[in-house]
Amino acid sequence: MTSRNQQLFERAQRHIPGGVNSPVRAFRSVGGVPRFFVEGKGPRVTDADGKVYLDYVGSWGPLILGHAHPDVVRAVQETATRGLSFGAPTELEIEMADLLCELLPSLDMVRLVSSGTEATMSAIRLARGYTGRDVLIKFEGCYHGHSDSLLVKAGSGMLTFGNPSSGGVPDDLAKHTMVLDYNNVAQLEAAFAEHGARIATVIVEPVVGNMNLVVPTPEFLKAMRDLCTQHGAVLIFDEVMTGFRVGPQCAQGYYGITPDLTTLGKVIGGGMPVGAFGGKREIMEKIAPLGPVYQAGTLSGNPVAVAAGLATLKLIQQPGFHAALTLRTKQLCDGLMAAAAKHGVTFAAQSVGGMFGLYFSATCPQTFTEVMACDKDAFNRFFHAMLDAGHYFAPSAFEAGFVSAAHSEADIAETVAAAEAIFKAW
Ligand SMILES: *Cc1c(COP(=O)(O)O)cnc(C)c1O
Repeated sequence: MTSRNQQLFERAQRHIPGGVNSPVRAFRSVGGVPRFFVEGKGPRVTDADGKVYLDYVGSWGPLILGHAHPDVVRAVQETATRGLSFGAPTELEIEMADLLCELLPSLDMVRLVSSGTEATMSAIRLARGYTGRDVLIKFEGCYHGHSDSLLVKAGSGMLTFGNPSSGGVPDDLAKHTMVLDYNNVAQLEAAFAEHGARIATVIVEPVVGNMNLVVPTPEFLKAMRDLCTQHGAVLIFDEVMTGFRVGPQCAQGYYGITPDLTTLGKVIGGGMPVGAFGGKREIMEKIAPLGPVYQAGTLSGNPVAVAAGLATLKLIQQPGFHAALTLRTKQLCDGLMAAAAKHGVTFAAQSVGGMFGLYFSATCPQTFTEVMACDKDAFNRFFHAMLDAGHYFAPSAFEAGFVSAAHSEADIAETVAAAEAIFKAW
């Protein structure tokens, strides 16, 4: 008997490439049939076959309050009745900009866009326009959206310029991007020593959530800050995932490092399409209409999306919000590690705020190479066993996971108990 999920997946593939509108959703990495969701409430989602799961993806990060939080839904409904879009300024956008600049001291000015990809792409153009330089440094395993300059992999030698990692990206564009190893201070120093005067910007995930979870060393973040200052390059913290997820002042507050520009997305839209980039006034004033760097968007600052984001940001400012979320996420990681240890399964887990990483490896990886050395087959086995048991983790060994404020202590305990049963039979 074919399930409704399976029927929908077959139907989807007729007119949607791969049946999905974003590749990782297709379950290619773990195999099997993607779940089509029909409802989400708090920490749980229901699929097309009526099966309920505790959700540890949360739409890949935005749903820090869980699904369909009543305040967020109300904000969307009330705003929508007054009109969906104007393509003209609204007061809500000012409220959002004021709030973001108040919450993040590194932001003097901010511009709203509709996705994380748009935010990073625009921040990079701005950094290049501001410095008058072309070279961009990024790190292997970090994801900053799918714009051309960023779909680049390391060149053949160390400190050589990159090659496209996607079809359709011109070599001529990729040659301006240099891809270095995350957490490798010596390599970063060497790159600046050799090319310092040509480097426009360094873009980084201050905690990586796109090669599973990788935590930065304090020396790495500090070296990045010092080298950019010394050489007049713009330091961009891509906080699309970490923004308001790891703490009330994002990763920059958590680690005490001030970037020149910050990109945001995910949580600041509360499940609706909102992105933002902002930072130092003298850089932001280079953006049109004030300056020569062009950037625009028909739906930028969309009132309904901004209303969802504002409602979310207001709720997560309650005292103790991030402390509680951090504790809950740690409960999951500690519980899973204890369960694995009890049954002799090689496994590690760690969290920062409300994001976490699970590794089928003896220790938590610190580099891209170490992430790649984790046991992917073991993850896939774990993923499917947990899915069967009603616990939805990211369908790839190379993605971070997310806990929301709607996950109760009992929900986490339920997930840990399911994992223990799986590890027992491992
Ligand atoms: C998700 C993500 C993006 C891209 O955001 P989209 O809204 O998917 O375009 C960029 N950077 C980081 C760090 C992300 O996690």
